[in-house]
Amino acid sequence: MPLKILGSRIDAVSFQDALDRIRALLPLNRPHHIITGNTLMLLEAEKDPVLREILENAELVTPESSGIRWASRVLGEPLEEFTPGIDLMLAVCRVCAEENLPIYLLGAAPGRAEEAGAALRIRFPSLNIVGMHHGYFQRAEDPSVVTLIRRAKPSVLFVGMGMPAQEKWIAKNLEALGVPVVMGVGGSFDVLSGKLRRAPDAMRKIGAEWLYRLGQEPWRWRRIAQLPVFARKVLIQKWRRQ
Ligand code: UDP
Repeated sequence: MPLKILGSRIDAVSFQDALDRIRALLPLNRPHHIITGNTLMLLEAEKDPVLREILENAELVTPESSGIRWASRVLGEPLEEFTPGIDLMLAVCRVCAEENLPIYLLGAAPGRAEEAGAALRIRFPSLNIVGMHHGYFQRAEDPSVVTLIRRAKPSVLFVGMGMPAQEKWIAKNLEALGVPVVMGVGGSFDVLSGKLRRAPDAMRKIGAEWLYRLGQEPWRWRRIAQLPVFARKVLIQKWRRQ
C-alpha cells in the first residue's frame, strides 16, 4: 500500500525492494516510469494536479529523502529507510553491467552526461552506455531526441533534467521511448561527473545531504527554505487525521 503524503503517492519500499522491482522490469518490453519522490516534489505536486497524476500513474515512487521518512513516522506509517536517487541509479547501473543491459544518459549541461558516463565506466567497466545527450533542448526537438534514444534501444534511460521537468518529460514521452525502465535522477550527472561533491557519509546518514548541497549551491536556499513548509503541512495532515 502506498503512503499518501500531502495527497501524493510514495511507495513504502526499502532500497532492496526498489532494486528488485526495477530488476524485474528490465527484461519486459513495456515502458515503466520510476520516480524518486522527495519533499520538494510532494510540495510541488500539492499545487500541480498534473504532477500528482504522474506520481499516481508511475510504476514505482521511491522515498528519496530523509524528509519523507520523517513524514512517514509522523503519520504513523514509518518507513525503514530512504533511498537517495543517485544510490539507486548506481545500483541499477551495477545490475545492468552484470547482466549486460545497455543504458542511456539524458540530461545536464552539454558534455556533462559524457563525463558522468566516463565516471560510470570506471566504476563498472563492463557497463554498456549506448548513448548520451544533454538536457538543454527545446520541446520542439522532443521527437528527434526520442528517436535517437529509441534507436539506441537501451534497457534503462536515466533522465537528469531536474524536478518536475524530467518527470513531465518522461510521462509525455514514455510510450514513444519504449524503454523498459525510465528514471528521473535530477542532478546526479553533475555529482557523477565530479562537478558537485556528495556529502560525507556521516551527513548522509542523518539525512543532512541537503545542507551540504546548500554549501555548494547557495542559490538553492529558496528551495530548501520550503522544508519547514513541508513539515508544517505534514503536521496539519496528521492533526486532520486524528
Ligand atoms: N537541467 C537540464 N535541462 C534543463 C534544466 C536543467 O538538463 O532544461 C539539468 C541541470 O543541468 C542539472 C539537473 O537538470 O544537471 C537539475 O539538477 P537539480 O539538482 O536542480 O535537480 P533536482 O535534484 O533538484 O531535481
